Amino acid sequence: MSRSFDVVVIGAGPAGYIAAIRAAQHGMTVACIDKWQNFDGSYAFGGTCLNAGCIPSKAMLESSELYHRATHEFKKHGIVTGEVSLDVAAMQKRRAGIVRQLTGGIGGLFKANKVEGLVGHGKLLAGKKVEFTPVDGDPEILEAKNVVLASGSVPIELPFAKFDREHIIDSWDALELDAVPERLGIIGAGVIGLELGSVWARLGSTVTVLEAMDDFLAMADRDIANVAAKDFKKQGLDIHLGAKVSATNVDNGTVTVTYTDKAGEKTLEFDKLVVAVGRRSFTDGLLAEDSGIALDERGRIIVDEECHTHVSGVYAVGDCVRGVMLAHKGSEEGVMVADLIAGEIAEVNYDVVPSVIYTAPEIAWVGKTEAEVKASGRPYKTGSFPFAASGRAKAMEQTSGMVKVISAADDDEMLGVHIVGPMAGELISEAVLALEFSASTEDLQRTIHAHPSLAEAVHEAALAADKKALNYINR
Ligand SMILES: Cc1cc2nc3c(=O)[nH]c(=O)nc-3n(C[C@H](O)[C@H](O)[C@H](O)COP(=O)(O)OP(=O)(O)OC[C@H]3O[C@@H](n4cnc5c(N)ncnc54)[C@H](O)[C@@H]3O)c2cc1C
Repeated sequence: MSRSFDVVVIGAGPAGYIAAIRAAQHGMTVACIDKWQNFDGSYAFGGTCLNAGCIPSKAMLESSELYHRATHEFKKHGIVTGEVSLDVAAMQKRRAGIVRQLTGGIGGLFKANKVEGLVGHGKLLAGKKVEFTPVDGDPEILEAKNVVLASGSVPIELPFAKFDREHIIDSWDALELDAVPERLGIIGAGVIGLELGSVWARLGSTVTVLEAMDDFLAMADRDIANVAAKDFKKQGLDIHLGAKVSATNVDNGTVTVTYTDKAGEKTLEFDKLVVAVGRRSFTDGLLAEDSGIALDERGRIIVDEECHTHVSGVYAVGDCVRGVMLAHKGSEEGVMVADLIAGEIAEVNYDVVPSVIYTAPEIAWVGKTEAEVKASGRPYKTGSFPFAASGRAKAMEQTSGMVKVISAADDDEMLGVHIVGPMAGELISEAVLALEFSASTEDLQRTIHAHPSLAEAVHEAALAADKKALNYINR
């Protein structure tokens, strides 16, 4: 007799495992299937985010930032050290340990919440049945009242720069390098390309980033992108905009990249080339032909606002559906879907999904950019405050960057907050809450912020929107 569950989730990344836990918390019987296998052959829950994305990249960003500070900034603080040297193996061991702890933690959470974690391949069949093939056994059919598809995404491969995992590599390979490459090339100046570039540049690589678009960080507010571009340049990241790569060749351990920009065709040579041009939804082997699930032109599972597919009782969440490919967006969809299955009213507010780039300085934003507000025709006002005027930022020796607030001129509603500077990824949470609660600029102006704190910069930027900044000259 086949086993049956109230909910079967396929994929245990941040979208799937959160959906599974939330559904179990509603008292439902839940199974969550995943087949993720690490380079060392071990299987792990947590998906891209925990194994090869958010967490390992932040571990490496933190280590490389500390190394950079020790070699470049300690002197300024009056800290004198002997020669600071690098132990990449120890750094990688720390990264792997953090990943292992967190992915292992999901197993513990599954147990505590009575989610059945199943290691193997899941395939949706017709009639809400799921074929589960364990990594070490025969296929089994699971009956499900509801199915949640959370199969995630994989890196996009370029036809003229195929991954060979040694010289032409993806973001996962780039996080697990065992030595600092002398010359590192990166195709793509998006979030992942910039984060990886920052890691290896701080550890000593000469990093060149080739970006096909003419605008730097096209999705960010222009004022913020301009500050960030200057900072990255100062740090030695060589970013070429409008550079379209057309060919690569690997010979004797050297990758030669051919690209074209306004000045014509050029070539560059690297020891490693990271292709970080984006990710595509992953549904290979997920759907039986008669499953009834439809994909859009970009291979994403088609869902409505509530993440319901065309098939009643089958949902899809996270990177395998439309929208930004971010862990917290997928997790919120997972929560929504579990709540909907439990009969509750639930939604995701897609207008207030924060974006963060964990470079130094960090970049974070929520809501609309100034260009988007301008295009909407709504009258608006802006206020900004530089971290150079923040006492806390000065004490931290991290004064680069600013906070920018964009608000409606008619009813004072806050429309967007954009930050480049220290701890921007933490500071943005206040702005997310403000936008979620439809706060006015005055609400933020009248909220007490601890002194001295970086958050005062958010407060002052809100004040500046009405020319009421107190610690900066209003313009
Ligand atoms: C280098 C890097 C850094 C990143 N940093 C951040 C960050 O700082 N913040 C952020 O929000 N996002 C970040 N992301 C993006 C983030 O990792 C993804 O948005 C997130 O992991 C998506 O979650 P998901 O659950 O939809 O999919 P995934 O995390 O990709 O998980 C999908 C899971 O489904 C499993 N699976 C797929 N098909 C099957 C099947 N048929 N049977 C069984 N299992 C299956 C896979 O094995 C995988 O474990 C980063 C990504 C990368 C690559």
